[in-house]
Amino acid sequence: MKYSWEEFARKMGVEPQILENKEARLLKKFVDELIPPTHCQGCQGLDLSIENPVHHPSYELTPACNHNCIFCYSNVAVKLGKAPKPGYYGWDNPKAITVSQYGEPLMSPKIVEVNKMLRERFPDARLDLQTNGSLLTEELWAKLDFDLVMISLDAASREKHLKITNADTFDDVVNALRIVGRDKSVRSIVRTIFMPGINDEDIPKIAELAASLGIDEMMLQPLTVHYHNHIKLDNAGLDFERAESIADYLKAAMEAKKFIDVRISGCQLVQYKKMDALTLWGAKRVARDVAPIVKRERKDSLKLV
Ligand code: SF4
Repeated sequence: MKYSWEEFARKMGVEPQILENKEARLLKKFVDELIPPTHCQGCQGLDLSIENPVHHPSYELTPACNHNCIFCYSNVAVKLGKAPKPGYYGWDNPKAITVSQYGEPLMSPKIVEVNKMLRERFPDARLDLQTNGSLLTEELWAKLDFDLVMISLDAASREKHLKITNADTFDDVVNALRIVGRDKSVRSIVRTIFMPGINDEDIPKIAELAASLGIDEMMLQPLTVHYHNHIKLDNAGLDFERAESIADYLKAAMEAKKFIDVRISGCQLVQYKKMDALTLWGAKRVARDVAPIVKRERKDSLKLV
């Protein structure tokens, strides 16, 4: 006669216990319920059938930035001579255009002109502004016309912000969150990088602060450690092992979820959704890279600056 293993255990006088990992089950449930960030919608990164997906088109204004963040890929690209020249990197009929992936777009005197040109040339595309927020004022915001704005904030205090960005602009960034949070015609997002050992405790505080200012969403992104930033991140206290842990990244998102509609990078999320609970709990992601490059061609006919 065949017994199931539970029946067999009982016949042997042992009450069977199901081995389970509660934390893994919670992570899996969290991932199953998450939807991609609004910024990722329309990006090839969400489509697992594409072998080499590329990011949305972008319009690059300048590689210059008034911040000098310890994790920044744009700085690395500038140092290696790989920063994109100003112009449109994309194709006809884009679903979304990011202004910009490199540098701080609000440093460019052409920002209003480029914004207007993109709106006229691509009336059906979602226009996403990606900025550090420090230069955004009410006057400038009134002249801009975006559908979505992402403001980077990785610390919940002036001191920590200074340590991460090397710029004393915390109050200006908070003010920018206030300006866009009040404007209900735009999707407002605080964009935060998960840097365990540096900003774990700040993440839920940033989520709470952003929500209190009317921000719609937090996009929590995993850290990519570029070779040239290694020493800076090490000096700031980065826990490199936890930076590669998917479970730690998800747990940080779960904490932030108590305060705001948190989302994690779409191209990561689609892969995590395919993992079972235990794999998700134990998996590591490759967090190291040498040089960031733009994989899209520049369209010279749309160069404006
Ligand atoms: S995070 Fe990934 S999916 Fe989202 S916009 Fe960037 S490349 Fe695309």
